[in-house]
Amino acid sequence: TLRDVFEQTVSKFPLKEGLVDRRLGKSWTYRDWDLEVNKLANAFKHAGVEKGDRVSTVLYNTAEFATTLFACMKIGAVFNPINFRLTGKELEFILRDAAPKIVLYEKATSSPVTYAAQSISDIQFWCIDEPDSFAKDYDEEMFNASTVRPACELNENDPYAVMYTSGTTGMPKGVIHSHRNMVDQSLIMSAVMRVTKNERGLCVAPMFHCAELHCAFLPRLMMGGSNIIMHQFNAKELIHAIKEERITHFFGAPTMWNMILREDLTEADFSSLRAGLYGGAPMAPVLVKEVNNTLGIDLFQAYGMTEMGPAISVLYDDEQLSKSGAAGKPLINHEIRVVKVKEGVPSDPHDICPPGELGEIIVKGPSTMLGYFNCPDATKEAMYKGWYHSGDIGYMDEEGVLWVSDRVKDMIISGGENIYSREVEDVLFEHPGILDAAVVGEPDEMWGERVVAFVVKKDPSITAEELDKFCTDNNRLARYKRPRRYEFMEDLPRNASGKLQKFMLREQAAIAKK
Ligand code: AMP
Ligand code: MG
Repeated sequence: TLRDVFEQTVSKFPLKEGLVDRRLGKSWTYRDWDLEVNKLANAFKHAGVEKGDRVSTVLYNTAEFATTLFACMKIGAVFNPINFRLTGKELEFILRDAAPKIVLYEKATSSPVTYAAQSISDIQFWCIDEPDSFAKDYDEEMFNASTVRPACELNENDPYAVMYTSGTTGMPKGVIHSHRNMVDQSLIMSAVMRVTKNERGLCVAPMFHCAELHCAFLPRLMMGGSNIIMHQFNAKELIHAIKEERITHFFGAPTMWNMILREDLTEADFSSLRAGLYGGAPMAPVLVKEVNNTLGIDLFQAYGMTEMGPAISVLYDDEQLSKSGAAGKPLINHEIRVVKVKEGVPSDPHDICPPGELGEIIVKGPSTMLGYFNCPDATKEAMYKGWYHSGDIGYMDEEGVLWVSDRVKDMIISGGENIYSREVEDVLFEHPGILDAAVVGEPDEMWGERVVAFVVKKDPSITAEELDKFCTDNNRLARYKRPRRYEFMEDLPRNASGKLQKFMLREQAAIAKK
């Protein structure tokens, strides 16, 4: 179980700095941290949490988040980390579904939590800093709790966490992962990233998301490295923290890497960095190269989804140039297939596409979810014939490398031709005057759909005409793939894990057309 893994690290590295919280300016050795974890576990128990009960967090990256994660394991509770950027209504939906015994939150998330708490009566709310009238004080609950390890029988196949998908399509669903699932995922990722006990990693991407938690934080923890926690992303503070804490590696969503590159770097010192990881969304190849030039590191890329823990394939640092833009090869013990898509029925795992042909990406592996919480039908559909059906379109090349093109739902069909938004976005990113770009389809009487580009400018003087010429020049894009319309924006709508929310852009395009 993950509890064993944590306790093994504690006994192997008792005096090592295990946890650092930059906001509090506090650090814990593994041994002290373990005592803190036992204390919280006993406090949960005292408050009525039993094995199998959920405990939720609506927390930014904090020491308390990391402590709650392990405290849950000590008593067999199911950890339910929730996105801190949700609205009150969205949060209420998840809390009703997950039905936790306790929700931990902080001042920074008080507003959605207050909203949700109004209409829910059987949940305790604990606040880690300044409690509202309906909440209990975390410190007070901890005050009298014992540091003695609570007894609890735990099996590797017991659920460890329920994590809600970002809901880029439809309502969020709770993904249940077992201890075994995540021991495997973290082991594999620590091998991929060549993690050692000397690692000093920065938790800067949201820890509620499984990419940060299972591909960066847990792999480091199981090897005995140190975890330095940053409350939330801020490019200036991140650059400062790398220098001050001698950070060796970290996971960042593509937007984060992009924003680092836009900062003034005269005071920066990246000499301690040895690697970086990104994933969760595609990153334009030119940006990956720019990171290499500026920060002096090659990035690893992980591709995956919450249901798979999340990583299923990885593009290694030394493949970034030869396979720029690809999602890499399947992880150890994972099988990935690209299969033919048929309208209205799930793709058949045996109907495999030949190399180069686009189809739906399906996968099997040791970190496959146990299922969706409270959703047996959705689980059955997603796990059709034993393979997780991702809803992503991609292809395998002759060398067995996977390329991801689009979400099935984001593909644009114009005049009968399929257009993959990502191909158009990658071309736009090559233009030096563009900071961010997203491409969607909008309804068109003549062609069914036509391509619209939403662009955030870096150079304020660029125009639609100039961008259109750029797409045409050097045969960069076939005529039918070129955006017919450009909209310039201050920011693109992204969710907390950096994923574009294209449905919002499609709505906006439809409104603009009226
Ligand atoms: P989530 O539901 O938040 O776990 O998001 C999973 C989805 O994010 C996948 O199905 C992909 O569409 C997308 N995604 C994740 N990683 C990558 C990546 N490295 N490249 C492209 N798309 C990705
Ligand atoms: Mg998903």
